Amino acid sequence: RITVVGSLNIDMVVTTPRLPVLGETILGSGFMTTPGGKGANQAVAAARLGGNVSMIGCTGDDIFGNSLLSNLAVNHVDIEHVKVIPSVSSGVAMIMVKDGDNSIIVDPGANFMLTPEMIDSAEEEIKRSDVVVIQLEIPLPAVERAVDLAKKHGAIVLLNPAPARELPDVLLSRIDIFTPNESECETLTGMKADSIGAAKDAAVFLASKGITHPIITLGGSGAVYGNAGKIFHRPAPEVEVVDTTAAGDCFSAAVALALSRGKNIAEAVEFGNIAGALTVTRKGAQASLPTPSQIAALEEK
Ligand code: ADP
Repeated sequence: RITVVGSLNIDMVVTTPRLPVLGETILGSGFMTTPGGKGANQAVAAARLGGNVSMIGCTGDDIFGNSLLSNLAVNHVDIEHVKVIPSVSSGVAMIMVKDGDNSIIVDPGANFMLTPEMIDSAEEEIKRSDVVVIQLEIPLPAVERAVDLAKKHGAIVLLNPAPARELPDVLLSRIDIFTPNESECETLTGMKADSIGAAKDAAVFLASKGITHPIITLGGSGAVYGNAGKIFHRPAPEVEVVDTTAAGDCFSAAVALALSRGKNIAEAVEFGNIAGALTVTRKGAQASLPTPSQIAALEEK
């Protein structure tokens, strides 16, 4: 069983011929709203892969909150511990897309109302979890309490440090699995991870902080992982890239699911690479998250 502690956002996407300047109104096109937020993406990814998943987080009491909750429920994520906060908006990301690139404003809204006490009220859920998955789109005290409770009950702690921010050493020393991508790795360590060799050096540094298993994801180059003793590289399957959105979310979720099923770290990274690679072959965030049969088809190739 997996518990995901994290964010839920509605992504509001509009395509624009150019970015408006202050005071200007211009016409865009192709507006759509889709459920997102790293926490919700990872919860849906793990559930779609066949995991038993519950989520701890907050939405506002607005129409977006309703649709975020129903989206999780439709995807078989247990929403008992998602709190609806009165008089606060749900987290939203306003995304302007121009020539395939984007400018984004995120209003975390209810996500920033997640308190340590709310984590405490879900202690029974954490107690029955094999893995607790956390990201950084929620307040740090909530992250720290989730780590405390996971450790207290012997669950594996997977922290996906996104978006990257400075973290206390004492927190790092309690993390079992840590999954930065290349740029997050650089922000966190000050070391480049732009080649397999450089990423291995950064992983050694992260391990020296007391992280049991750093895993640095390297996009199409797969991931490096290991522990203080030895760092390995595992390539990703070669696939046709359509849209890389949510690849990292799917990778972390797949690693968590594999570990919750008793797989070792090498097997978990292998599974993460396959799931992450499948995610980039299709458009969208949650829409592109793979199913077990799609995994099996790629494994047979
Ligand atoms: P993020 O999405 O957080 O930026 P990455 O780009 O490192 O993270 O991707 C996460 C994982 O997704 C990679 O480790 C890999 O397993 C898979 N992946 C991403 N891009 C590709 C790609 N072009 N080809 C194959 N696998 C990919």
